[in-house]
Amino acid sequence: MAAFRCMNHPEREAVHQCARCGKPLCEECYNPDFGRCRDNCADSLVKPEPKGRSAVFRVIVAILAVIGALVVLLVTICGAYIFTLSN
Ligand SMILES: [Zn+2]
Ligand SMILES: [Zn+2]
Repeated sequence: MAAFRCMNHPEREAVHQCARCGKPLCEECYNPDFGRCRDNCADSLVKPEPKGRSAVFRVIVAILAVIGALVVLLVTICGAYIFTLSN
């Protein structure tokens, strides 16, 4: 089998291959968490996901905050109303 060279380090022998772009990679350029190259594919994989998730998360938190505020307001109004009736 012919020895592949790392796409970033031509002097180094490639010991891994990117699962996305298929480029040969040395130990340093390979990201074992994703099985992809650090420079291109692992980065593009990581960045979009948390963004999308946090946007949805922010909307849910905002809705819950509004509902919470309305419940507090309602309880306050009801409490005041009951207090007024009992007197
Ligand atoms: Zn890649
Ligand atoms: Zn390398």
